[in-house]
Amino acid sequence: MADDERTSFDPKTWLIAPGEAGAPPPLVAVSQPQARTMPPRATVLPPRPVAAAAGKPPYALAAMLSVLLLTGGAAAAYLTRSASPAAVPMAAQPGAPSVVAPPPPEVIDASRRTLVVAGPGDVAATLAGTGIAADAAAAATRAAQAAIGPDPGEIRMVIDLTGPDGARRMTRLEATRTDGSGAILTVRPDGSYGSEVQQARLTTEVQVVRGEMDATSFYNAAVTAGITDSLIEPFAKALSFDFNFATDVHPGDVFEAAFEQKVNPQGEQVGSPTLIYVSIQTEAKSKALYRFLAPGETEAGWFDGNGHSTQTALMRTPVDGARITSGFGMRFHPVLHYTRLHGGVDFAAPIGTPIYAAAAGVVTSSSPTACAGNMLILHHDNGWETRYFHLSRYADGIHPGVRVTQGETVGAIGTTGFCTTGPHLHFEVHINGEKVDPMTVDYGTGKALSGDGLAAFRRERDRIDRARAAPTTS
Ligand SMILES: [Zn+2]
Repeated sequence: MADDERTSFDPKTWLIAPGEAGAPPPLVAVSQPQARTMPPRATVLPPRPVAAAAGKPPYALAAMLSVLLLTGGAAAAYLTRSASPAAVPMAAQPGAPSVVAPPPPEVIDASRRTLVVAGPGDVAATLAGTGIAADAAAAATRAAQAAIGPDPGEIRMVIDLTGPDGARRMTRLEATRTDGSGAILTVRPDGSYGSEVQQARLTTEVQVVRGEMDATSFYNAAVTAGITDSLIEPFAKALSFDFNFATDVHPGDVFEAAFEQKVNPQGEQVGSPTLIYVSIQTEAKSKALYRFLAPGETEAGWFDGNGHSTQTALMRTPVDGARITSGFGMRFHPVLHYTRLHGGVDFAAPIGTPIYAAAAGVVTSSSPTACAGNMLILHHDNGWETRYFHLSRYADGIHPGVRVTQGETVGAIGTTGFCTTGPHLHFEVHINGEKVDPMTVDYGTGKALSGDGLAAFRRERDRIDRARAAPTTS
């Protein structure tokens, strides 16, 4: 169960020590990854300077606003000024009786200010800082806060003002959350506020990213292709039943991901993207999977184009970004110094690398032993058992009797116990008390959708495929 390896493994690199089976060609032979298909849509918001301003204490914001008002709103990054279309004066309209009065002074000062504050608590100071009367600011604050609620989170404020310094009035206030929900307040002639509730106005965009494996790592290739950082692990996990990323995937192999992103009326991304499609094409095999919530299930799973779940009994590689350093079978043990059965598979990865539950099950043991160090045993619903050796630590909440889901992080790579010579996971599968080779044992096929579930899946599959085919997804 110990590991003969002396080199540490960097999960952000595919490079395997020269001479090992499956080593990729040398770096020099590999060209830069080609943007062979559509470039990804920008997945990251452009920096929003308002956020920095919004993070300041309210008095700073108010002071800032005051300065801007005093200086006539000099070009500042965090505030925009423009004439409010709602404030076009009656006197300017052709045909209006050209009697005595010159245009009222507020015509000149009609302005709109748009800014984002850190939360509902900043609304009062912001309105007070506009220069409107204190009682009007307080009333507007109450009305705005009632409309947007107390929950924390950024508030986008659009404030229409009219009148000169000293007699400034607010004519309209728009206060909305990042999802577009909130209210528009308008000032009635008697000074009270009319409120128009705004519903959340989020739209969902499907974005498609394609790329090619490079010589460094899937992580690197994925980032280059434009896959958001947070989607890389789910991408690899979705395909982990079909691919061993350490041995099956090579430079030049092609991958694709599609994900959904909620977008607010300002075009800003709201919330995290959700992966809905993954595929990898290698010389040996290709696989395309669609995310789908099957009827009666509480969590979405991954299905091939025919509606077969990929979720087999066990994950073959229950660790992120590892490579096999020692397989199952008879070998001369490097620590114990005699030939015996190596009853599992060793995956080398740096200390701290997450280890996943290979299948749903119940923790039956989570305590150290002399040889295996920190060991974890899971008992699975089909009667099989998996064992994980040499952990540096157990994940929070991992104790005997606790139920875990497939793919859940249960611990981290380590090198505890005397039967190890370097950081790795020794992984065993037991069936009816017998150790079997985790790499070759038949894990069975995933269940197939049928009836209404299959029909619903096909609609979802076709929707995703249309988005993938659409030229606008570049
Ligand atoms: Zn081992």
